[in-house]
Amino acid sequence: MTTSFPRLLAPLDLGFTTLRNRVIMGSMHTGLEDKAKDAPRLAAYFAERARGGVGLIVTGGYAPSIRGWLTPFASKLTSRRELPRHRVVTDAVHAEGGKIALQILHAGRYGYHPLSVSASALKSPITPFRPRALSSRGVARTIDDFARTARLAREAGYDGVEIMGGEGYLINQFLAERTNKRTDAWGGSPEKRRRFAVEIVRRTRAAVGPDFIILFRLSMADFVEGGQTWDEIVALAREVEEAGATIISTDIGWHEARVPTIVTSVPRAAFADITERLAREVTVPVAAANRINMPEVAEGILSRGATALVALARPMLADPDWVRKAEAGASDEINTCIACNQACLDHTFQRKEVTCLVNPRAGRETELVLLPTKRSKRVAVVGAGPAGLSAAVNAARRGHAVTLFEANDGIGGQFAIARRIPGKEEFAETIRYFTRQLELLNVDVRLNTRAAASDLTGFDDVVVATGVTPRIPSIPGIDHPSVVTYAEAVLGRKPVGDRVAVIGAGGIGVDVSEFLTEHTMRDVNPTAEELAEWRSEWGVTEDGSVPGFVVAPQPSPPAREVTLLQRKPGRIGLGLGKTTGWVHRAALKHKRVRELSGVNYERIDDEGLHISFGEERKDAQVIAVDTVVICAGQESVRDLVDELAAADVTAHVIGGADVAAELDAKRAIEQGTRLAAAL
Ligand code: FAD
Ligand code: NAP
Ligand code: SF4
Repeated sequence: MTTSFPRLLAPLDLGFTTLRNRVIMGSMHTGLEDKAKDAPRLAAYFAERARGGVGLIVTGGYAPSIRGWLTPFASKLTSRRELPRHRVVTDAVHAEGGKIALQILHAGRYGYHPLSVSASALKSPITPFRPRALSSRGVARTIDDFARTARLAREAGYDGVEIMGGEGYLINQFLAERTNKRTDAWGGSPEKRRRFAVEIVRRTRAAVGPDFIILFRLSMADFVEGGQTWDEIVALAREVEEAGATIISTDIGWHEARVPTIVTSVPRAAFADITERLAREVTVPVAAANRINMPEVAEGILSRGATALVALARPMLADPDWVRKAEAGASDEINTCIACNQACLDHTFQRKEVTCLVNPRAGRETELVLLPTKRSKRVAVVGAGPAGLSAAVNAARRGHAVTLFEANDGIGGQFAIARRIPGKEEFAETIRYFTRQLELLNVDVRLNTRAAASDLTGFDDVVVATGVTPRIPSIPGIDHPSVVTYAEAVLGRKPVGDRVAVIGAGGIGVDVSEFLTEHTMRDVNPTAEELAEWRSEWGVTEDGSVPGFVVAPQPSPPAREVTLLQRKPGRIGLGLGKTTGWVHRAALKHKRVRELSGVNYERIDDEGLHISFGEERKDAQVIAVDTVVICAGQESVRDLVDELAAADVTAHVIGGADVAAELDAKRAIEQGTRLAAAL
């Protein structure tokens, strides 16, 4: 077979079994693991990925005991009574020719409940519960628990288990001096701190026999002070290999780390070089992970020779057919994960089921079904932003004849502005995906066409997805020449000076502040120089003798002097994503963005932006700036809705045209997809 991705698609012989290619679907908790009644949904979700060709699936984490729970009543596998629901999953995956391993995750001090335990009684900075330090008997019992869960996994039909040894969970807590202050046989020296991990692997191997996959998930760099050194990590890798691990899967950074590791601003494959270094130290296959979202990136890593596998988690939510498309040499058809976390990790932290911003069917395979239509209709979609694009593409996929009207000379709507923000370069992939799908599905795309009601006669269904426009607040002097909208600033339609005030500190205000203070945009595939710069910005050192690999961040100076303002009191950026907001807040700090809350906008004139504070309008002052950028939210574009109503044409209204408040691309794409499923 000739293929563009020969290494990625090559089978991997593990001795007792063979993986059909080098792609592991990495572990992600979906929220469907916790209740037996959700087993059929979980099975459908995994089966779709197995059908899509992935080599080995790893489930979300299952605790080996209730003390190891992440949250009260979270998923666990501790008794034979729980096996039937697992068999529903393993049977479904095997029926599609796939393989699946169960992840065993003991949360340790990351457990969000009062029963949590750890190596030492040290509370984590991200959980409210102080863990109990495990006694020596408790340690022995916990090792037994891991082995028992692995044995049960085998009985349930899994092809293997993954032992979670990274991300700051229990095993990692034993490994690092930061969290292991023991002086008994399980702490006090690096060797003794490693013993817990190594014994777990050894006992698990003894429990499951030689012909069962054991992945050990190993933290290649903890990114916390008091984390492991490189020598300790290499020693651990060698010892878990010797104890019986089949594959070392890697991760990087604890949950409490202040170095971003998976958000969209992290360069692609940012840590693959560290995996390669580690892979050269052992003989078992090692899997690279983190920000590998396209086959070209994966092939690039594998082609350098040391790394045997790649683990992709979120990209498998975004596109279950990722591997099949790589096999067909059609990576331009892949719905790429843009690493936004908005519908996956943010949902997990909000205790909501996981899905995907670019693929709202993820996790809802049994509910949001796009069946071929029995009666092909003529459908007009107005507006090629995320809402209109998802409606158009999915309606066409079902067999409808779709015409898409777009006033601009390109598709994407507000998303086409978002993709110009440094750190959001990946958003261009979503536009590329839709562009290709529109071609493949023969959608009649009419660019540079502002549709009026008169253009929309003769269609069976009319979808209005005309989106939003920047809100212009009524501040005296708002028409001063120094005032520009975020769209004008980002698209370069109006010049922006060196001293800037940004009015409005929502998601867009924060993005625009980053845009204005950065010097340049990176390519999605960074150069070595850009990667080094990013590491220095976030305080990552390559000096393996530094525990945890973290030093003081050294950001480059800002390109402009920016003041970011909001009317409400309190810290800026509190409404940002749970798992991404802290990165944006840190980036603003790096770029010395001045943040002012609780302000009144008094007026704008040649001197700059005049403000005061609070209801008493005290502390009046002027912020001397060259440019004021408006990021004060948005308003729906509904003129067409009104026109159609006057012409008695019924229309479906979706996305920002429907409701502008709290609009994001997640809602826009889901609304478009659900409408298309119902047309
Ligand atoms: P729009 O994107 O506004 O699209 C509407 C389209 O309709 C436009 O292309 C417009 O030209 C067209 N149109 C209007 N009238 C007509 C007509 N009569 N005929 C033909 N065409 C017409 N969201 C997130 O979820 N995550 C983010 O990280 C994120 N970051 C962002 C960063 C920035 C800087 C910006 C500006 C936005 C960001 N967003 C983000 C918001 C996201 O882009 C919007 O929520 C989303 O684009 C709304 O989709 P929509 O389809 O409803 O509307
Ligand atoms: P937003 O989050 O609603 O923020 C609007 C900002 O404008 C607020 O800070 C608001 O704060 C201010 N504002 C509102 N009315 C104003 C007025 N009349 N005068 C002055 N200030 C006013 O909206 P957005 O920033 O435009 O973002 C739009 C959507 O895109 C958001 O819903 C967001 O979900 C999405 N988005 C998401 C991300 C992400 O990373 N997830 C990034 C960008 C955008 P005060 O009222 O306190 O002044
Ligand atoms: Fe990727 Fe965003 Fe989808 Fe999560 S929600 S899988 S980060 S595209």
